[in-house]
Amino acid sequence: ADLYGPSRKNSAGVELGHAESLDALLAEIAAATAKPFPDASPIIDGKAVGGTPRPVLSPIDGKAIGTVAEADAALAGRAMLAAKAGFDDWNRTPARTRAAALRKAADLMEAKRGLLLALLQAEAGKTLDDAISEVREAVDFCRYYAAEAEAKFAMPTALPGPTGEENRLILRGRGPFLCIAPWNFPLAIFAGQVAAALVAGNSVVAKPAPQTPLIATVTVRLLHEAGVPVSALHLTPGDGALGAALVAHPAVAGVAFTGSTATARAINRALAAKDGPIVPLIAETGGLNAMIVDATALAEQVADDVVMSAFRSAGQRCSALRLLVVQEDVADKMVEMITGAGGELKLGDPRRIETHIGPVIDAAAKQRLDSHVEAMRKLGRIVWAGDAPALGGTFVAPHVVALNSIAELDREHFGPILHVVRWKSGQLDKVIEAIEATGYGLTLGVHSRIETTVEEVVSRLSTGNIYVNRNIIGAVVGAQPFGGHGLSGTGPKAGGPNYLMRFATEQTVTVNT
Ligand code: NAD
Repeated sequence: ADLYGPSRKNSAGVELGHAESLDALLAEIAAATAKPFPDASPIIDGKAVGGTPRPVLSPIDGKAIGTVAEADAALAGRAMLAAKAGFDDWNRTPARTRAAALRKAADLMEAKRGLLLALLQAEAGKTLDDAISEVREAVDFCRYYAAEAEAKFAMPTALPGPTGEENRLILRGRGPFLCIAPWNFPLAIFAGQVAAALVAGNSVVAKPAPQTPLIATVTVRLLHEAGVPVSALHLTPGDGALGAALVAHPAVAGVAFTGSTATARAINRALAAKDGPIVPLIAETGGLNAMIVDATALAEQVADDVVMSAFRSAGQRCSALRLLVVQEDVADKMVEMITGAGGELKLGDPRRIETHIGPVIDAAAKQRLDSHVEAMRKLGRIVWAGDAPALGGTFVAPHVVALNSIAELDREHFGPILHVVRWKSGQLDKVIEAIEATGYGLTLGVHSRIETTVEEVVSRLSTGNIYVNRNIIGAVVGAQPFGGHGLSGTGPKAGGPNYLMRFATEQTVTVNT
C-alpha cells in the first residue's frame, strides 16, 4: 500500500517562474557546459574499451559536442559474455541491496542535474522544461522500481498447500538482459529500462540510440558509482546493425526495446529465428495517437491541449498527438484557435529560456518530415504552417494538415505535424472503429462534456493510455503507468506495478516438511 500511497513521492520539479531556483539551475547547467562533455565509449567491466570514434553532433547547430567510440560485433560479443559472467553474483545479491543502488542513483541524478540537463539540451535538443521533466522521470523510475523490488522481490511469497508441504514462489532475474533505447528520451527511457532490468536481478548490456551516446555513458557511470557492480552493467554504443548483432548473441536472456514498430518487428523475427532458449521481448513502440473532440468540448481548453500535445517537444514524444478528429460543426473554429495558439510558439535554440520548440533530432528526421509536408502541400492539404527559424540546426516548423479520413494516416510522422479529420454528428461509432482499425494503441484523447460519449470511447477503444478533457502527454511514474497495445507495444507498462515482473522469472519451491 505504501508504494501507491502518499509516502512515495515523485521528485520535486523546478519552478521556472521562481527567479532564484531558475538562476541556481542555469548556473549548474553553465558549470557543466564550461568543460567538454565526457566522451562516450563501450564500457565493459567498468573499462572504456576501444571502439571506432566519430563526432557527436548537436541538432541545435550541427556542431560537434563530443566523441563516441562505437562498438563493433566483436565488442558486442565481449559485452554479452561479461554480462553472462556477472549475472549470478548480482542475481544473488539481496533485492534490498539492488534497490539501494537505484535509490542512490536517483540521488546522484538529482545532484548531477546540471550535467544531465546540459546533455539533454545539447545532444537531444530539449527545451529546459522538457529536460527538467526528463531528469525527474528518470529519478522517479529509479525510486519507483526500487520500491517495487523491495515489495515483490525481497521475500518469497508463501503459498498454501496440504499439511506437511510448504510452497513458496520466488522472483529471480532471467540472465543477461539487452536494453535497447531510442533517442527521444535518452535519459528517462534508457535509465528506466536499465534500472528495471537490474533491480529484478538481471545483468545488463545497454545499447543507446546512435544519436545520444554521451548521456548514456554518463548514466552508466553514474549507476556504477551508485553501487551497481561493473560486472552487472555494460554499455555498447552503436547503430541498428550493432543492435542486431547483440540481439543475435546466444547469451541474451531477455530484450527490453523502445523505438519504432518496424524495429520491434525486426527484433522479434531475429529472436524467433534463434536456437536455444525462447527469449522474451518487451517492446514499446510508436503510435497514431488521436484526440476525439465533439461539439460540447471547451474550445480554449482543446486548443491548449492540442498545441501542447502535437507541437511541444517538437512532436517527438511517442505519446504526441498525430490526429485530431473533430466534430464538423465546430471544426473551423477549433482549427482557427489551434493555429492561433500554435502561432504563439517560439521555435529556436532550446537553451534559450523563452523557446517552446527546439530542433528535431537529426538531418534524416528533418528530411522525412519535410518530404511528408511537401507531399501534403502538393495535394493542397496544408491548413497552416508555423515559422521555422533561420538557424543552422534541424528545425521543422509546426504544421496542420487536413485529411479526408482517419485511414489516410498510414504511419507515424515523428515531428510537429498535426493531421485533422472531421466527423459528422451521429458518426462517433465510425470514428471509434476507424481509430481501432489503425492497429495502434498508445495514447488517445477525448474532449467532450457528455459522459456517455466519454464512456463509449473509453470502453470501446483498447488504447494503452486514455486522457479525458486534458492533453495526452507527460505520463507520470506511478500515477499513469505508460505503454501501448497492438502495433504500439507488448506491455507491460513502464512506471506501473506489473513492469518488473516481465524482467523476472518465477520459481516455485515445494518442500516436504
Ligand atoms: P528506432 O526503432 O529507429 O531505434 C530504436 C533503437 O533500436 C536504437 O537504439 C536503434 O539503434 C536500435 N535498432 C535499430 N535497428 C535495430 C535492429 N535491427 N536490431 C536491434 N536494434 C536496432 O527508433 P527511434 O527513432 O530511436 O525512436 C523513435 C521511435 O520510438 C518512435 O517510433 C516512437 O514512437 C518510439 N517510442 C516509443 C515509446 C513508447 O514507450 N511506446 C517511447 C519512446 C519512443
